[in-house]
Amino acid sequence: CRSRVHSGCVRAEISYIMVKPDGVQRGLVGEIVGRFERKGFTLRGLKLFTPGKELAEEHYKDLSQKPFFKDLVDYITSGPVVAMVWEGDGVVKSARKLIGSTNPLEAEPGTIRGDLAVQTGRNVVHGSDSPENGERETALWFGSGSVEQWQPALAPWLRE
Ligand code: UDP
Ligand code: MG
Repeated sequence: CRSRVHSGCVRAEISYIMVKPDGVQRGLVGEIVGRFERKGFTLRGLKLFTPGKELAEEHYKDLSQKPFFKDLVDYITSGPVVAMVWEGDGVVKSARKLIGSTNPLEAEPGTIRGDLAVQTGRNVVHGSDSPENGERETALWFGSGSVEQWQPALAPWLRE
């Protein structure tokens, strides 16, 4: 583990980030991955595949009563996604800022959605909304304990 409080471990904060099918189809994978890399977060997992309905429904289970739920599941399962796990102190909140508002027309320029998308239903990227969901979604998409644990050589140049 990264640090110790009393005799226990403090787990590094992780966020589940996903390039949605529209981002993959539009050739925006490198652009999106690059923003998290350049910011200084650590890539812990990455894979491309087309998720099934069950996985998409479980991922978005909190939204199952929303009128757009079926369209959302159809969208997420419509083609390959790039599933990723990024680590860093404050990564969950910071990633949400880098991603921008859910509605890309309201997202600030400079954010991923603000720069690269126009519609809520095609907003190119997902990011966990809490550290707990970062853990939950990582376990769901990658299986528990299956993401890489490593220290980038650049770490001392990113964090004092
Ligand atoms: N979404 C939609 N219509 C809406 C709200 C949300 O199609 O009115 C989709 C959109 O793709 C969004 C996802 O559902 O990214 C999850 O919604 P949430 O409110 O969690 O937004 P996010 O956390 O992705 O910004
Ligand atoms: Mg959300």
